[in-house]
Amino acid sequence: MQYNVIVIGSGPGGYVAAIRAAQLGFKTAIVEKYDTLGGTCLNVGCIPSKALLDSSEHFINAKEHFAEHGIDIPAPKVNIGQMIKRKSDVVKSNVDGIAFLMKKNKIDVHTGVGSFVDKNTIKVTGKDGKETTITTDKVIIATGSKPTPLPFAAFDKKRIISSTEALELKEVPKHLIVIGGGVIGMELGSVYARIGAKVTVVEFLDSLIPTMDGTMGKELSRVAKKLGMDIFLGHKVTAVENTGNEVVVKAEPKNGGNALELKGDYCLVSIGRRPYTDGLGLDKIGIETVKGQIPVDDHLKTKVDNVYAIGDVVRGAMLAHKAEEEGVYVAEQMAGQKPHVNYLLIPGVVYTWPEVASVGYTEEQLKQSGRAYKTGSFPYKALGRARASMDTDGLVKVLADKQTDEILGIHIIGARAADMIAAGVTAMEFRASAEDVARMSHAHPTYMEAVKEACLAATANRPIHI
Ligand SMILES: Cc1cc2nc3c(=O)[nH]c(=O)nc-3n(C[C@H](O)[C@H](O)[C@H](O)COP(=O)(O)OP(=O)(O)OC[C@H]3O[C@@H](n4cnc5c(N)ncnc54)[C@H](O)[C@@H]3O)c2cc1C
Repeated sequence: MQYNVIVIGSGPGGYVAAIRAAQLGFKTAIVEKYDTLGGTCLNVGCIPSKALLDSSEHFINAKEHFAEHGIDIPAPKVNIGQMIKRKSDVVKSNVDGIAFLMKKNKIDVHTGVGSFVDKNTIKVTGKDGKETTITTDKVIIATGSKPTPLPFAAFDKKRIISSTEALELKEVPKHLIVIGGGVIGMELGSVYARIGAKVTVVEFLDSLIPTMDGTMGKELSRVAKKLGMDIFLGHKVTAVENTGNEVVVKAEPKNGGNALELKGDYCLVSIGRRPYTDGLGLDKIGIETVKGQIPVDDHLKTKVDNVYAIGDVVRGAMLAHKAEEEGVYVAEQMAGQKPHVNYLLIPGVVYTWPEVASVGYTEEQLKQSGRAYKTGSFPYKALGRARASMDTDGLVKVLADKQTDEILGIHIIGARAADMIAAGVTAMEFRASAEDVARMSHAHPTYMEAVKEACLAATANRPIHI
């Protein structure tokens, strides 16, 4: 079997690259070691976590907010089995959708571990050990990432778990200890906090979601505490032990003070993910990883002329939409086009409720770079729309260049932030000033009015509604 393009890995990077390559007329194959397509994102990442987040939001709304809306129902109960089953059904419909897209685009799917024989030959080893050899002009590596374990406590998948197991629990934990207050820890922590678990988050740095603008972390911490979560920032975890029916976590404050000992029934370790290249046979083509990543140039090409790499396995944010953009980029480049990825404008989202969404520079980055900037912010509680839906937690913060007024960053924590951030990306792609956005009509009453008001505050310090 001879192809123009073979893609290894069928996550959002790989399957999108394959579709775009096929659209451009390349004879394309995709190799995936699991039985289902879609990678981390569809099987054990974005989609299942959002399914559980939505279920847990319905539950807490029914439990705590329906009565105020004038809807009287008996006290709702959690059926965790059904919640997990619905999540699995959502995953199935999504992964089946990718299989359909492969057929539609006439992309051959080879199931098994793909490994290099040489730079034009890939061996696919099925679960039964059967080997198939396929050849190609070009290869796109999109093998993704895996959860990073603590160096002193491996995942036992029973009490010391990664996000993968946290999406499959058979009971609501009594006490879930989350190590790492980043995106995954806060999302899954909030799922279980809403459906009745005591949740404690231990984070090494001094802020939650530490890669995002500091204001977002502070506000998220306030909201998480309101939900009943305990948050320990600036704590270094020193030991995690499965003692049978319990897990014991020990941590020390970085800046001195009393050591912490927590006992729970599950410990979710969400300290990050590491690029995954096991079994790929990179040594056969002379590629060496650096800090686990496959080194690539600005065009996502590896040191081997016909081999590219995209997504979580290369540098940059570990996000599905970043992987997708890179997949399209590489395919179009192979077709002689001149594509472009604007890495500054890849938005980041945390799907807690309220959601957090950001694009562009954070205030910390601007301070560090010495760029003169101004800020404008607007609280959700001053929005008519937010009051109508009782979603008054959160704010919008806009950062703009001090001289030119060009928007440099938009940071939102609040209801529907995940969808709103697309408007921020659009504005920034067109290099809008804060005044440009402030002068555009925004439908009333909507959450987006908070963005307009924050832009008014940034451009001329004259918001209307506060
Ligand atoms: C709990 C969780 C929630 C997340 N939520 C979000 C979110 O809301 N939004 C977002 O943007 N991102 C989210 N992410 C991150 C997102 O899932 C990843 O950034 C994305 O999946 C990366 O895509 P990828 O194509 O690079 O790799 P992956 O999706 O990891 O796919 C890689 C694929 O390659 C396969 N593979 C590996 N080696 C081989 C081999 N040798 N042969 C054959 N196949 C191989 C793997 O089996 C896998 O299917 C989340 C992640 C997790 C864990």
